[in-house]
Amino acid sequence: MSSVVRDIYLVIGGSGFLGRHIVEALLARGDVVYVFDVVQRYHDVPFFSGDVSEEDQVSDALRKCGATCIIHTASPPAGLPTPALYWKVNVDGTSAVIRAAQAAGVRKLVYTSSAGVVFNGEDLINVDERRPFPEKPMDAYNETKVKAETLVLQANGQNGLLTVALRPAGIFGPGDRLMIKSLRDVYDSNRTHFQVGDNTNRFDYTYVGNVAHAHLLAADKLNEEPPSEAELRRRREYVSSIS
Ligand code: NAD
Repeated sequence: MSSVVRDIYLVIGGSGFLGRHIVEALLARGDVVYVFDVVQRYHDVPFFSGDVSEEDQVSDALRKCGATCIIHTASPPAGLPTPALYWKVNVDGTSAVIRAAQAAGVRKLVYTSSAGVVFNGEDLINVDERRPFPEKPMDAYNETKVKAETLVLQANGQNGLLTVALRPAGIFGPGDRLMIKSLRDVYDSNRTHFQVGDNTNRFDYTYVGNVAHAHLLAADKLNEEPPSEAELRRRREYVSSIS
């Protein structure tokens, strides 16, 4: 008889747009889920009120819920003129999550990074995770996402913690409070009569349910042995052949 050990999840930023979809996807498959956030927007899962940059608050939540997998989606939204806030939440906060997770014996950490970490203002076509970070980051949001992602990946295999980072580009879908609002603001401020380049520019957008699903797949994948270099090469060749 095979026994599958089910994880207990703590979704940090679980009151947010993506975080909420991750919570719903976990609930839909019968998982035990807790949320940690500075604001509470839903009342159907146990909630810890806390700031991710306060390590003792994260530790306290981990102690109480016994999470074995953290999905860390918390961040201030992109585009704010507040570098200090990005450094506090994204860098200090992610660092606090890693330390608290290792101290509590959490086994898995999934981090929501951003496609912006490799953006330098130039066209990016068919790039993958081998693309280096730009020497000059676009802004404080992207710079701190680079730092946070690097911390998360460096923590992989340290003190029993396995880690993975995902880099969504634009996310759309029900519950979005950023993209539609930004488009609406552009419209309301009458900034609609201009064109970027020759009007053939493209940008990746992914449905929020699919981004949430990717986080669950990433968490599940951490249960398996990592692929060999040969297997990674084979997968990259396959992706190149279809893109
Ligand atoms: P969101 O603002 O809807 O959700 C973020 C959540 O984090 C909020 O509930 C917020 O209260 C919480 N939070 C913020 N600071 C916190 C703190 N100090 N401590 C605890 N909780 C805190 O944002 P989202 O669009 O769901 O984005 C989720 C993640 O995805 C972020 O890490 C973001 O960088 C990344 N991302 C988003 C997009 C997008 O298009 N929305 C694109 C790429 C990457």
